[in-house]
Amino acid sequence: MSVEELIKKFSEYSNQDTTMLELAYNFAKEAHGEQKRASGESYFTHVYSVAEILADFKMDQPTICAGLLHDTVEDTKITIDILKNEFGEEVANLVEGVTKIETLRFSSRDEAQAENWRKMILATAKDIRVIMVKLADRLHNMRTLNYLSREKQLEIAYETLTLYAPLSQRLGIFNLKSELEDLSFKYLYPEEYEMLSAKIQLRYFKREKILEDFKNELNSVLESSKIPYRLLYRAKNIYSIYRKMQKQNKPFEEIEDTLGVRIITDTVVNCYVLLGIVHSHFKPTANSFTDYIAMPKKNLYQSLHTTVMSRSGEPIEIQIRTEDMHKTAEYGIAAHWRYKMGQNATDKHLDEKLNWLRQWIEWLQELESPREFLESFKTDLDLEQIFVFTPKGDVKPLPVGATPVDFAYYIHSEIGDNCVGAKVNSKMVKLDHELKSGDVCEIVTRKNSGPKKDWLNFVKTASARSKIRKYLREHKIED
Ligand code: MN
Repeated sequence: MSVEELIKKFSEYSNQDTTMLELAYNFAKEAHGEQKRASGESYFTHVYSVAEILADFKMDQPTICAGLLHDTVEDTKITIDILKNEFGEEVANLVEGVTKIETLRFSSRDEAQAENWRKMILATAKDIRVIMVKLADRLHNMRTLNYLSREKQLEIAYETLTLYAPLSQRLGIFNLKSELEDLSFKYLYPEEYEMLSAKIQLRYFKREKILEDFKNELNSVLESSKIPYRLLYRAKNIYSIYRKMQKQNKPFEEIEDTLGVRIITDTVVNCYVLLGIVHSHFKPTANSFTDYIAMPKKNLYQSLHTTVMSRSGEPIEIQIRTEDMHKTAEYGIAAHWRYKMGQNATDKHLDEKLNWLRQWIEWLQELESPREFLESFKTDLDLEQIFVFTPKGDVKPLPVGATPVDFAYYIHSEIGDNCVGAKVNSKMVKLDHELKSGDVCEIVTRKNSGPKKDWLNFVKTASARSKIRKYLREHKIED
């Protein structure tokens, strides 16, 4: 857990200066001082582990600094301004983003709301690297969850499964998604988890011989081609098998779980050459071939997929890709960020990838209330912002201290003008009630009721204020 180890790991993939890493390391160590985690370890071990995970994802230097510093504002006397002075805007902004997400507490058990929360987290983060720090933070918390109370475990595991695993999937970081899912599953359904992982191990043990034989045969075939390659096995995702059982309503024994092998090679042309060699030695099963190299998936995933029959009559799924494609599949967005680092900017598809990222974010915003989300990206989101849900689950950004009247005018001036009451989280509240992030607000209206003069004393938004004044003016009600 020394700064040398972290710098060594970082320097294996980056030439960026490491002075800042050292500063952040010492700063975080001092700031957290004697603070302890539930495990009894020093708090600093947590932020160090988060930085290490970010280095596993080959993130840039400011992101790793932010990993080291991510809990200083939340848990110590350090302020964002101090971080700005010590480490500059970029690192301070990343930490601020993570701190903001920390304040959004998710508790809903409603799937539709979960989608809005995921969007809200993205909108709040603004910079994808903030999400990366948050995901690394969550991964380490999940890996050390056994020290917390059962109640806390359930709460955090549920939030991870509903919010953070889908986010990592969207970012294309599949191994992160799998680990978050399996860890959540372990705490949410401990019995099912134990049973299923035992069964999977047993099945794998039985089929190891088949896979071993296939691998040997494949190696002898591929070696004669003189093309560089390496073979990898696919990791098992216990939760995805559980989901399949639920969806298809079948026991484990009836769930198809094809054995799989990956072939990683150097060039695109060699992917196709190796495919030809595989097909000429093993019979492909009907309609199993998909060319994701010529037609990449939306998240930029590229690979050739085919399923062939082994000599023992077992179908084996084969994925063939280049090292580059493999990195994109393993690290997702994180891999794209790596290309941003000046020294290694050799990726000619960089623009295309960043463009995809932008489109992806835009697509997210288009799903619902596009304008609000675009605005929240454009206007500098500050700590003064809260997010309030409509009963239908749309998220509306409002300033801190906003009231149901602000909310009503935000939705529509007519709803504001006719507002006579409000329910927050199904309870009636006064119209000057202060809304909080995550509240569900429902406005009660009555036709032609009209705004009241005293509303001007408590509304927080300029638009509500001006609409109330306009109504009062037009209806000759004295100010
Ligand atoms: Mn943390």
